[in-house]
Amino acid sequence: MSWASGAVDSLDLYGSAMVLTDYKRKRVPSAADVSMGRDLQLAFYALALSEHRLGNMELDPSRFILGYWSILDGVWHPRAVGKNIRTRAIELGLATKKTVLVEDLAVDTLGRVAQLLRELKDPKNRLEPRPSQACVTCAYQGICRSDDLRYRGMFNMKD
Ligand code: SF4
Repeated sequence: MSWASGAVDSLDLYGSAMVLTDYKRKRVPSAADVSMGRDLQLAFYALALSEHRLGNMELDPSRFILGYWSILDGVWHPRAVGKNIRTRAIELGLATKKTVLVEDLAVDTLGRVAQLLRELKDPKNRLEPRPSQACVTCAYQGICRSDDLRYRGMFNMKD
């Protein structure tokens, strides 16, 4: 079963470095959001790519440079760098001394995903809709499944 999908905007090879870029028209996720696992996009891409090859070439995460390119500002925002390419990436201006390691990001992401799955499986964290007067102004009305008959039955049992 496929439970996540995405398309890498760009993967460029610079010598032994592999630069994975996601282009952003609007907000660029902050370095803190990426490193704390609140924004998982780049980490997911790194994990997914590390399981593949490009021709004869292994896609080795220790040589990845991950970042966002802001289309509006024309600015590169580094978000993670592999340990074997870190020094070179800093020299090239594609990372800074503060940029987190891809290896840590990947481990953190797996941990975060595992934690989210555990939370979702916990009956205490059920995400069923709970219709109330607040629905009138709720920003999630467009995607809320409060009209779904399966949930309606659930509400009737509770109310
Ligand atoms: S619209 Fe859905 S998500 Fe929003 S308050 Fe109502 S039940 Fe909850």
